[in-house]
Amino acid sequence: MAYTYDPQNVFAKILRGEIPNNTVLETEHSLAFRDIAPQAPDHVLVIPRGAYVCYDHFALEASEAEIVDFTRTIGEVCRMLGLQPGEGGNGFRMISNAGLDGVQEVPHLHVHILAGRPLGRMLQKG
Ligand code: AMP
Repeated sequence: MAYTYDPQNVFAKILRGEIPNNTVLETEHSLAFRDIAPQAPDHVLVIPRGAYVCYDHFALEASEAEIVDFTRTIGEVCRMLGLQPGEGGNGFRMISNAGLDGVQEVPHLHVHILAGRPLGRMLQKG
């Protein structure tokens, strides 16, 4: 089944400049900005500029340049925030929710970067 992208989703509006955002990093194919309702001291969202619903859609249809840019942007944000465990940072967690069971609220691919406090175990029941 093909993906249908809703161009009225909130991240599409951010990409078109219709809604403000707290930008952390902009690249040719990606945008990183602070989550409006942070769940940790550092809570940044990284999105591709292209119209992809979720990670599966992106992996299927994105160009290699988009995939490389998106992957490197996530790493660059972690370095900008001083999170990289290999260089003395306290680490981070990446989450990308997809679809109903993933409880994805915004239907534009995004990776959450969460950090700045111990984040507990990966999942809670329920
Ligand atoms: P998800 O449940 O993975 O789709 O997460 C969507 C995230 O987008 C939530 O953490 C929201 O707080 C965040 N969010 C929604 N609207 C905005 C906005 N205008 N600017 C920044 N973050 C937003």
